[in-house]
Amino acid sequence: MASQTTVKTLLILGASGDLTGRLLLPGLARLVAMGRAGDLKVVGAGSDPWTPEQWQNRVHTAFTEASVSSDASGKNALKDLAKTTTYHQLDVTADGPLASLLAELEGPVAVYFALPPHVSQLACAMLTAAQMPAGTRLVMEKPFGSSEESARDLNRILISLVPEDHIHRVDHFLGKATVLNILGLRFANNFLEPVWNREHIEKVEIIFDEDLALEGRARYYDNAGALRDMIQSHLLQIMALMAMEAPASIGERDLRDAVSAVLRASSIKAPYAKSTRRARYTAGSIAGRKVPDYAKEDGVDPAKNTETLAEVQIEIDNWRWKGVPFILRSGKAIGDKRKEGVVTFRRVPHLPTGFSGVDSPNQLRIGFGPDTLQLDVDVNGPGNIFTLDRTTLNAELNASELLPYGEVLDGVLTGDPLLSVRGDTAEDCWRIVEPVLKAWFRGTVPLEEYDAGTSGPENWPSSAAPQD
Ligand code: NDP
Repeated sequence: MASQTTVKTLLILGASGDLTGRLLLPGLARLVAMGRAGDLKVVGAGSDPWTPEQWQNRVHTAFTEASVSSDASGKNALKDLAKTTTYHQLDVTADGPLASLLAELEGPVAVYFALPPHVSQLACAMLTAAQMPAGTRLVMEKPFGSSEESARDLNRILISLVPEDHIHRVDHFLGKATVLNILGLRFANNFLEPVWNREHIEKVEIIFDEDLALEGRARYYDNAGALRDMIQSHLLQIMALMAMEAPASIGERDLRDAVSAVLRASSIKAPYAKSTRRARYTAGSIAGRKVPDYAKEDGVDPAKNTETLAEVQIEIDNWRWKGVPFILRSGKAIGDKRKEGVVTFRRVPHLPTGFSGVDSPNQLRIGFGPDTLQLDVDVNGPGNIFTLDRTTLNAELNASELLPYGEVLDGVLTGDPLLSVRGDTAEDCWRIVEPVLKAWFRGTVPLEEYDAGTSGPENWPSSAAPQD
């Protein structure tokens, strides 16, 4: 469905940055090619003394892939935008230049802070509400703060500039299609809801294991690690969607209220040596590709003990979930890559005497990108029908036609903060992980090791891997 943009100008701060070139502009390109960006103007800004042509070339290059797969009108729209986009050199942390630029642009303007987090914070602190033209939207990247307190400080600054529903805290991990697939599955099917609780569910695992290693991102990653990079933001959001109560509507208010209620009830309980684990990869190989020891990578300080694999057990203290562990895990350089939520049901109370063979608990697997659904069930086996056997029902769910950052920008341009993380939630996500970060810093939980290309340290009990 074509959406109506309310934003007239997209101002990208950090025009020369990696995020802008690799993710933002290609995401924008699809929107433009599909005619979903209206007559949007795009303006780049940065501290480099670029000519307008240098910026236009950057935009043109980032648009190439979308252009190849577009029809004639899409190609023309992309060409026109790349030709007309303008560039402004400015120091966003200086008092004045950003506010003056905002005053010049056709509004409403969406300001995308594609800047290092501390620079974004300084830039926001320089602005005042009076300098915000009507309808201005502020788009903040992750990480949003570095602790509950710093996230609260940043929220205070932002909310003094524009209303909460004009602040987009980007979480590009879950596209709109994935969010709606989870909600559709849970709330449009009556058979699931009666068993979606502590009576019938033993545990829920949310796993994002990737085969990518550091890939030259030491400057960012060595200061973050798997807990901050993945669990603190993305995986807690997925957990909230899987655990939340049924919202009355899928509007941003109802949905974000329901997400927030889950996270407010969530915590990781001490002792952390029991409820959390961390590890770092050593040299190994993945699909024939040699991966060097993380600690010896350029830009890595081994003394920082940055984890490349983290696992935490979250408790949700409410009526529905009391006592059900939610295990969130994310790792780099893992041989068997997985991106899924796995719901393990309790075993049947009594298996009728006479059956033999496997009696395994049912598992529902929700794959995130590609979006899939798998249900593992026990059925009567082939040959001897008294012997139970395992089978899997499979479905592929519908994907989005936009790239993840296209969906982020679609929400920004149409003024829909549905996919954006609300301020209170951003603070709560830090509140949940902060005690663990402190305990890890103190060395309370050992940093274990695993070879790149394996599924983690040998002594870690394997999580619910899919059956063949
Ligand atoms: P980069 O370091 O690649 O780019 C930062 C940009 O900010 C550069 O264009 C830089 O310009 C500009 N900049 C820095 N200081 C100033 C200033 N005082 N005034 C104006 N411009 C300034 O960072 P990334 O693009 O990788 O990341 C940007 C944000 O996106 C970060 O918050 C990051 O966490 C987030 N992010 C990044 C992802 C990625 O894959 N890259 C993925 C998800 C989130 P110059 O070099 O000229 O100073």
